[in-house]
Amino acid sequence: MTCGDDLNGSVTLRKGRAKPLQMHHPWVFADAVARTDGKPVSGDLITVHDHRGKFIAQGYYSSTSRIAVKLFSWRRGQRIDRAFWSRRIGRAVTMRSDFLGWGDPAGAVRLVNAEGDGTPGLIVDRYAGFLVVEFLTLGMAARRDMFVDILRELIETRGVFERSDPETSRHEGLSREPGVLWGETPPEFVEITEGGARFLVDLHGGQKTGFYLDQRDNRLRVAELAKGRRVLDAFCYTGAFALHAARAGAASVSAVDSSAVAVELARKSADLNGVDITFTRGNAFERLRMLALEGERFDLIVLDPPKLARGRAGVPKALRAYKDADLSALKLLSPGGVLVTCCCSGVVSEADFLRALGDAAVDAGRNVTIIERRRASRDHPFTPACLETDYLQCLIARTTDLD
Ligand code: SAH
Repeated sequence: MTCGDDLNGSVTLRKGRAKPLQMHHPWVFADAVARTDGKPVSGDLITVHDHRGKFIAQGYYSSTSRIAVKLFSWRRGQRIDRAFWSRRIGRAVTMRSDFLGWGDPAGAVRLVNAEGDGTPGLIVDRYAGFLVVEFLTLGMAARRDMFVDILRELIETRGVFERSDPETSRHEGLSREPGVLWGETPPEFVEITEGGARFLVDLHGGQKTGFYLDQRDNRLRVAELAKGRRVLDAFCYTGAFALHAARAGAASVSAVDSSAVAVELARKSADLNGVDITFTRGNAFERLRMLALEGERFDLIVLDPPKLARGRAGVPKALRAYKDADLSALKLLSPGGVLVTCCCSGVVSEADFLRALGDAAVDAGRNVTIIERRRASRDHPFTPACLETDYLQCLIARTTDLD
């Protein structure tokens, strides 16, 4: 594997497979490749050509992944070197500070969002003074020293920490424990602020890179709706929706998650903010059903389950689970109550997700009106060339009794 910018081979596509890539879709699926020349190994920079041999783009190669090449440059002959990546990362960082105005040194923000920032395979999150880097391809991971160097040059930081998603790592043949790439080791919990609330984040072992930054804007919106309401946060992780609701003056807040570690940290963050939240560890689907049977009532319910469908084959089962959760929630909501239902399964279409809610409304015998359709936070940009990266849906619905 080369860590420089030398081209180390090329792939030629099967006939009929070039179009999306010519339209700047960044993923070359392994089954679209007709021929590989030059014996590239995983991580190498290679060029991609249509079946006639015409240049399409350049990217990093993987011999083991379902995605054989992740593309990032459609200019023939463009040098892929430190200056190239520094420009890309610089553009992403500047967008956050200038355009989104998120320079709060105590805050947490996604600075680099893989495909959405033209850097497939690279995610960089800032948690107060620490940067957390996630490499999703061997091509990016092999150049980690260069990326750390670029990040240090662009952003003031106490330390750069690496996290890797276990699933992606397996596909890509990456095997890395979390670890310090530069500077200080983050403490067990790093404190961040979000919309005035304080959160403890476990950068070493927490889910994602420690916090669901993609839901920030939706959480701040829920805070606006929570005042005076009885709130239930289902699939709460470290309690972020719940905590914002409590701080915003909710009448009461309950929250549930299956992860004992997450619930324990949620309790710590609630204490830090001096708010009173009832956390329960358990299966949220069952808990919702049980609360409905017990005749409980809430005025605002957040459903934020994990990814329930990985591939297309899993969509019907996932839709049944979304409908099941929506149905229980609608039974629990008081007239005029608000349901915030989220879906982070990219393969589930908006139409299907809406239909699941519509079906649940009919079964529950309630009226449901969608008042907002929301997506991931603004620091998670996506590109129209790769709609797979527009994975997060968040519907806000108001429910009333049938008349
Ligand atoms: N709303 C959270 C993020 C939720 S991520 C936030 O804003 O931070 C999804 C969560 O669902 C994870 O914390 C995971 O532990 C939890 N989870 C997965 N399966 C579950 C189940 N069956 N019951 C309850 N929680 C579950």
